[in-house]
Amino acid sequence: MEFMTQSGAAAGPIGQGTWYLGEHAETLQQELSALRAGLDRGMTLLDTAEMYGSGAAERLVGRAIQGYDREKLYLVSKVYPHNAGRKNIFRCCQASLKRMGTEYMDLYLLHWRGGVPLAETVECMEKLKADGLIRNWGVSNLDADDMNELFSVPNGGNCVTDQVLYHLGSRGIEYDLLPALQKRDVSVMAYCPLAQAGRLRRGLLGHPAVTETARVHHATPAQILLAFLLTRPGVMPIPRSSRAEHTLENAGAADVRLTGEDLARLDAAFPAPTRRVPLDMQ
Ligand code: NAP
Repeated sequence: MEFMTQSGAAAGPIGQGTWYLGEHAETLQQELSALRAGLDRGMTLLDTAEMYGSGAAERLVGRAIQGYDREKLYLVSKVYPHNAGRKNIFRCCQASLKRMGTEYMDLYLLHWRGGVPLAETVECMEKLKADGLIRNWGVSNLDADDMNELFSVPNGGNCVTDQVLYHLGSRGIEYDLLPALQKRDVSVMAYCPLAQAGRLRRGLLGHPAVTETARVHHATPAQILLAFLLTRPGVMPIPRSSRAEHTLENAGAADVRLTGEDLARLDAAFPAPTRRVPLDMQ
């Protein structure tokens, strides 16, 4: 399933994340420029959450989209698990919409599974949809068993995405979750597609298999990580950047076409899982 904007156009193969953005006044303008550079390059899907900076990232999204045609954008936000029931979700959804300065969300996600029964969350999501406050709903950080449970509750099959951690160095979902979702035409939004930070990230971006693939394609290692995810049907990476030059570099990954030889090189260095692996989370 592709993410289609209200205008009927696809949101593009790569979205933009916003975690940690909008939290510091001194970097706000730079972050706005980065998001807008992405919007101008067709990265029209913006992913945020009520959790990020306690609403600061949603407010940044609201500022970034000013002056753009709302119907050509695809806005995604997430509700905390403890808010994902009848008691709080309607108020929380309205608060997210207000922070983003929009009348509707294209996609509203359950951020991760908590104590509220899935059936209740689905019932609320369907009500938000019927009321026109959201166009679609989905989930995040749900593993294969949770997804099966979700599909078994009334209207659970209306879920359009599972947003999960997925990058070249963390391929566990390829064993069972990804094929199961592909079979049902449920998209995967790949978060932390650049492995965010830390030792693993340095190990990935500097790994000879990645740098050699980048050399062959006159691309950067970050672009190779994104291009790898784009070879998977139904997967959209949502990298986050606070710098326009990085955002444009990320957009350019859509033009990198990895060959069978490239994929074999990457597979040899970062093998696909051969058994079930619990979902990685950030
Ligand atoms: P990420 O996108 O894997 O990595 C972000 C880091 O990569 C930033 O430090 C950024 O630094 C750097 N970066 C971006 N483009 C780059 C490039 N071309 N070259 C080198 N470095 C680059 O990590 P993430 O933010 O954790 O994940 C992406 C998005 O997924 C989040 O922002 C959020 O929207 C979503 N997410 C969802 C969940 C969930 O539970 N559903 C969890 C985590 C994340 P600069 O700012 O300097 O570019």
